Amino acid sequence: MIEVKYNHWYPKLLRVNAVTKKECILIASPSEPFDEVLLKHELIHIYQIRKIGYVKWKARYLKEYLAARLKGKSHATAYYQISFEVEAFTKEEEPLTEKEKQELGLEIS
Ligand SMILES: [Zn+2]
Repeated sequence: MIEVKYNHWYPKLLRVNAVTKKECILIASPSEPFDEVLLKHELIHIYQIRKIGYVKWKARYLKEYLAARLKGKSHATAYYQISFEVEAFTKEEEPLTEKEKQELGLEIS
């Protein structure tokens, strides 16, 4: 099962909403109110990580970000251009499936 930690110091330090590390989602905000879109977004990153492995995923993520920054793109533009982010932002509005809720350890309604 995927581990989800709320109110975590690490994303707060990085000034982001959440960080995904292997099978663990670290979220800056508390667990309430429930943010399905954020969980779905991070879950998509977990699927990407499972596909190619965490080391390759992280390396490609940073490579794409730094390449854009070296071309003079702003932090925000470079971030939104990372292929992994493009996919996650495209699919994050899709509701969590029952299987995904189970993986995240959420109550089944
Ligand atoms: Zn993301």
